[in-house]
Amino acid sequence: MIPFVDLKSQYLSIKDEIDTAVFKALESTQFVLGSEVVALESEFYDYCGADYGIAVNTGTSALHLALLAAGIGPGDEVITTPFTFVATVAAIYYTGATAVFVDIDPISYTIDVTQIEAAITPRTKAILPVHLYGQPADMDPILEIAQRYHLTVIEDAAQAHRAEYKGRRVGSIGDLGCFSFYPGKNLGAYGEGGMVVTNNPEYAHTIQMLRDWGQERRYHHVLKGYNYRMDGLQGAILRVKLRHLDAWTKARRAIATEYDKLLTKADVITPTVMPYSHHVYHIYAVRSTERDLLQQHLHEQGIQTGIHYPIPVHLQPAYADLGYKPGDFPNSELAAKEVLSLPMFAELSSVQIKAVSVAVFERIPCLN
Ligand SMILES: *Cc1c(COP(=O)(O)O)cnc(C)c1O
Repeated sequence: MIPFVDLKSQYLSIKDEIDTAVFKALESTQFVLGSEVVALESEFYDYCGADYGIAVNTGTSALHLALLAAGIGPGDEVITTPFTFVATVAAIYYTGATAVFVDIDPISYTIDVTQIEAAITPRTKAILPVHLYGQPADMDPILEIAQRYHLTVIEDAAQAHRAEYKGRRVGSIGDLGCFSFYPGKNLGAYGEGGMVVTNNPEYAHTIQMLRDWGQERRYHHVLKGYNYRMDGLQGAILRVKLRHLDAWTKARRAIATEYDKLLTKADVITPTVMPYSHHVYHIYAVRSTERDLLQQHLHEQGIQTGIHYPIPVHLQPAYADLGYKPGDFPNSELAAKEVLSLPMFAELSSVQIKAVSVAVFERIPCLN
């Protein structure tokens, strides 16, 4: 069997370091926030090229607090794409604001920057591009539009730790950047976790208060806050894992190159790396009009795959009240029908990559 992700092999490869860090964290009894979390914050914002980092309990909380810090609330509109994980959109609704969708570019799967301006209204307050699959959205046109219309730019970098746009690390390009440390992400905790990074000290201060009951100091509640604090244990674990992220990212990129090469024999569309981007392959998605049959075939060969995502958010029952209908975002809808995510994790072996590629080719050979 070839798994879609293998968290066990990664743990075993760093077991000594992790176990030491975990026992030390237990001994310290700093179970919520504490010195390991503070150290993680500074190591991670530094890694992203930002000035501040605020650790939280999930990537969704990171998005929620970034939106709140930017002053977004009821009556406001936030522009994003429907071809994303539902959390991007849910976080907008937590603030009371409305999500306004713009379709994706069918090649990069990130927001189609040529359609953003048409979606701007007097209520628009922010643009929330998603660096989907580990490839940055086209940030320069987004920043240019945001500047012209006085909008805040919040990056959903939950799938894109260490990805770069024109040589700059994501998260620090917009006004605020949001990361998830869900176990399966490129940098994953052993539980839940998230982080907001920013260069703006006021945003950082607001988010620091909001994640911990809006306190300026103990029991002095300046804002109506939340319990969105990171566990001390996750801080300790993530510090160990951050030291390996460069090597793991390199491994993912090498695996993608290997897949690209082997899959030229199969009639599937492999990922396109945009000229501006350093892709970190959280997901390696191929595209085929025979997606469902291909997935079934791989399943029969013992190869686990995923679909990210089978239903765009504008067609999810939970968001039916927005009034969108099939056909509104054709690129997102077609991608949802055709993408298939192949096994991708840093420890995937050449033998496994070959086996997956052969199985794809068996089902969909290239005839020319
Ligand atoms: C994982 C993810 C999130 C949410 O992160 P959690 O840590 O699971 O709350 C948000 N946006 C995208 C694009 C994601 O992939």
